[in-house]
Amino acid sequence: MVVEPRVKDYICTTAHPIGCAQNVKNQIAYVKSKGVVKNDNAPKKVLVIGASTGYGLASRIAVAFGYGADTLGVMFEKESNGRRTATAGFYNTRAFEEEAHAAGLYAKSINGDAFSQEIKDQVIDTIKADLGKVDMVVYSLAAPRRTTADGTKYTSVLKTVGQEYSNKTLVLKDNTVTEAHISAANEDEINATIKVMGGEDWIDWMQALSDAGVLADDVITVAYSYIGPKITFPIYAEGSIGQAKKDLYKSADIINEKFPNIKAKIAINKALVTQSSAAIPIVPLYITLLYKVMKEKGLHEGCIEQMQRLFMDKILDDTQVDDNGFIRMDDWEMRDDVQSVVAEHWDTVNNDNVKDIADIDGYWEDFYNMFGFRIDGVDYSADVDIM
Ligand code: NAD
Repeated sequence: MVVEPRVKDYICTTAHPIGCAQNVKNQIAYVKSKGVVKNDNAPKKVLVIGASTGYGLASRIAVAFGYGADTLGVMFEKESNGRRTATAGFYNTRAFEEEAHAAGLYAKSINGDAFSQEIKDQVIDTIKADLGKVDMVVYSLAAPRRTTADGTKYTSVLKTVGQEYSNKTLVLKDNTVTEAHISAANEDEINATIKVMGGEDWIDWMQALSDAGVLADDVITVAYSYIGPKITFPIYAEGSIGQAKKDLYKSADIINEKFPNIKAKIAINKALVTQSSAAIPIVPLYITLLYKVMKEKGLHEGCIEQMQRLFMDKILDDTQVDDNGFIRMDDWEMRDDVQSVVAEHWDTVNNDNVKDIADIDGYWEDFYNMFGFRIDGVDYSADVDIM
């Protein structure tokens, strides 16, 4: 069938198998172009939880082709039923495995709910059977909900904490600037967001892997967060998701205290278009203003550039952290010369100038690319097998 994008609000409900594969190949080519890391301590067997899209996929590609690491990935993706396409993460993962195998690397993926004990057990069995132990665990889940072992369902919310908040936002369906009103989360909603996006499940994973004896000595584990500038504080760093991220930071400390053989790290990544960030109000407008400035200054990076830099330049060097012990992959985003222009543009952006001062085209290019569309070299008029 000929696959076309079907965009609804901030999601595309179709994905292009060839385009997704090309996207993965392009990311691999980028990592290869930067060369293999020359460090005897570079991990060789890596578990990536949340490995199929965004930062997790880029992490998997960076360690496979930058360290030459064998990888086991965990994801939550839908296969095609013959009529609907599979999700992008499904096609990405299949393409990644093919490329990794062709390069002589082990690559297997487990598709299921990472929060569940069943998937943790499957991962442990697979490590025991195929890898023995892993020496790195990347925790890159971004999930809207979680069911805990006792059957309770928690849904995360993207709201403020304390007071409701209004600010400019980009209406994605027609690229107009309007006012977003974000209500304040109640206590149950904050707690639910912490359950889903906080660090409890990260600790559970490290405990389960440790109990099963599948962690190498001096294993590194890393989880991702975002801080951003003041404009986004009410919806992000100080909002409900920010409370979950604070819990994630505490969880890194808990892991470090509890398991002397594990080094738990937090990387603060750059704001980028991913399936998760597109859903956050206000943030897409900030991203378009940011992209414009960073591209003009030659500082722009996508997920793969960020993760290549994280794994090759930063994560193996314990000194490259800020006062909180965080690895700052948002170092270029947060530069004064970048943020001062973004803040100025934030104040002046409106429907008349948005196309000039915001990188709307760049936003949409990234958005379509995530689902395998608008990728150079792909013939979108051709019939493709969607299975
Ligand atoms: P994403 O939506 O692209 O990726 C999420 C991944 O989690 C996918 O592989 C998906 O399959 C997997 N997943 C979701 N629910 C799952 C479940 N129940 N079981 C197994 N797998 C599941 O998101 P992303 O933006 O790459 O986010 C990854 C991390 O990076 C998050 O912690 C996010 O907060 C952080 N981060 C994102 C940004 C940004 O701008 N996008 C910036 C800084 C930090």
